[in-house]
Amino acid sequence: MKITKIETLVCHARMRNWVFVKVLTDEPGLFGWGEATLEWHTRAVVGAVEDLAELIVGEDPRRIEHLWQMMYRQHFWHGHGIVRSTAISGIDIALWDIAGKIADMPCSQLWGGPVRDWIRTYCHLGGGRMEDMYETSVDDAKQFGELAREAVEEGYTAMKSMAVPPTMPIEGLRPIRLAEAAVVAMRDAVGDDIDLMVDCHARPSPAMGLKFGKALDPYGLYFFEEPCWPESIEGLAMINQAIATPVATGERITDLTYFQRLFAERGCEVCQFDITHCGGLTASRRIAALADAHRISLAPHNPQGPVSTAASLEFGFSQPGYIICETVHGDVPWRADVVDEGFVVQPEGRIVRPNTRPGLGISINEDEVRKHPFEQELPQRVFYRDGSVGDW
Ligand SMILES: [Mg+2]
Repeated sequence: MKITKIETLVCHARMRNWVFVKVLTDEPGLFGWGEATLEWHTRAVVGAVEDLAELIVGEDPRRIEHLWQMMYRQHFWHGHGIVRSTAISGIDIALWDIAGKIADMPCSQLWGGPVRDWIRTYCHLGGGRMEDMYETSVDDAKQFGELAREAVEEGYTAMKSMAVPPTMPIEGLRPIRLAEAAVVAMRDAVGDDIDLMVDCHARPSPAMGLKFGKALDPYGLYFFEEPCWPESIEGLAMINQAIATPVATGERITDLTYFQRLFAERGCEVCQFDITHCGGLTASRRIAALADAHRISLAPHNPQGPVSTAASLEFGFSQPGYIICETVHGDVPWRADVVDEGFVVQPEGRIVRPNTRPGLGISINEDEVRKHPFEQELPQRVFYRDGSVGDW
């Protein structure tokens, strides 16, 4: 059996262009779907997939680890830069989809069978609608409360917000009070039975991340995400040690040795590696094994398209340390039109039971994808009050 072709299909979904990767084989009708979505780097990733195809077209798609090694180590440059790593991920996910189809079983069965009966999902405020999640100002605590209440009405038992504003490396009390007010509004709106998460988007310095973390600690967040730059393992470890709320991080990391140091220095309690960036399902299994050794939980980053979600769920059914699946459902109104999924989301509680179809259990409607061709993503940029550059 041979890989005959690797195609990319780009689908413009407002904030992101979803990059679907289709790996075709010489077996009639046998192909796999992967995803390599990387916002603001769409053309680069499509080109990187094209470069990688040079290495593996003509090879046996069943030798997934061997092909992963080729993609990571050949071409001289190790494949953990974000563009290359995302391209490798897209192809690797598609290879696992093929493996499941050959074995006629879901990917989670290939990895030892389901370790749980269902997976809980969480949403972003506004369901992933860009404006609600990223442009609700922390000055508007009431809006945070209203959006949280809406998510509960939609069946969710957990949700994430961006209740921490961009701040300069050191600021006073005002941003802390604003973040606190937004979290109080959400807590008041949904009560103690609902899990709330706050994503700092790696905006704060370690000093500010600590101040936000301590201020929000009394409200019992489920996790506190990216409280400082991921490059600062010592900052993450300092914050994680200082607060009771579990620190979550990992979505921007693609290098296994970084995860090893992050875990050894206890920089987080929840690892949010991104299956579409970290080297695919092959690399995810290695990261998960490392995390398991430290009893660090897994909650993969997943604000992208539907193949990423299917990969996260299949992976979650195979991993004891997996705690929750990130989802967006309101980013574009036609999301369900581009994909047919093998799993069903139960409206009450927004839980998912195992997919019973082979591989990832999905099919992409290519005609629907073609209705949404590439468009440049809108820039999301932050400048502080004095005009200096901040992190989005
Ligand atoms: Mg995040």
